[in-house]
Amino acid sequence: MSITDNIQKIKKEISEKVKLVAVSKNMPVNYIQEAYESGQIIFGENKVQDLIRKYEKLPKNIEWHMIGHLQKNKVKYIAPFIKLIHSVDSIKILKEIDKRASQNNRIIECLLQVNISKEITKFGFMENEIEEIISDIQKYKNIKVIGLMGMASFSNEKKKISEEFSILYKIYKKYKILNTLSMGMSNDYNIAIKCGSTMVRIGSTIFGKKKYD
Ligand SMILES: *Cc1c(COP(=O)(O)O)cnc(C)c1O
Repeated sequence: MSITDNIQKIKKEISEKVKLVAVSKNMPVNYIQEAYESGQIIFGENKVQDLIRKYEKLPKNIEWHMIGHLQKNKVKYIAPFIKLIHSVDSIKILKEIDKRASQNNRIIECLLQVNISKEITKFGFMENEIEEIISDIQKYKNIKVIGLMGMASFSNEKKKISEEFSILYKIYKKYKILNTLSMGMSNDYNIAIKCGSTMVRIGSTIFGKKKYD
């Protein structure tokens, strides 16, 4: 199966309403080029350095999404071009994105990362913190929070994964201003979609295993 075939297959499986982020972390530029030529426009990366390098080499209409933990001192490098940051996990980073977006005369779209499975990452907000941030969101003039992102536990238990995604969906549904729920990866995107995901982040099912660029 080629990258193009893999993307076609996934697109057939998921509803048209669910957006596909092709997670191209650790993949060489020519793989992304192939996916792009088959019509894929949204790509996700988890390192700032890779984002910059790939942004420079690849077509300018690609929508680059940051999906990995972001350090404050690196926000300025992606602020000029990043389309969506999935991994906003602190007020500190929210403030920095707002500042750098303003310097670039941009409004940067963000998702708040919610920690639904403490096993899998230490990053992300707790449910009660989401409430506070969203009620305060007008403070950040150059940020538009459009949704939430979360990761389920690495587990073979569908029920457990499903429960975690459902918790996230319930939080998401509390806020009318949100329209994007980023949940689901190669191993669990079918479950995520059943639980109300609107955006899936898929890497290895499209590109295969790690191939360092
Ligand atoms: C790597 C990664 C993905 C994609 O994972 P696959 O299992 O390769 O589909 C999705 N989301 C995040 C945050 C990631 O780091």
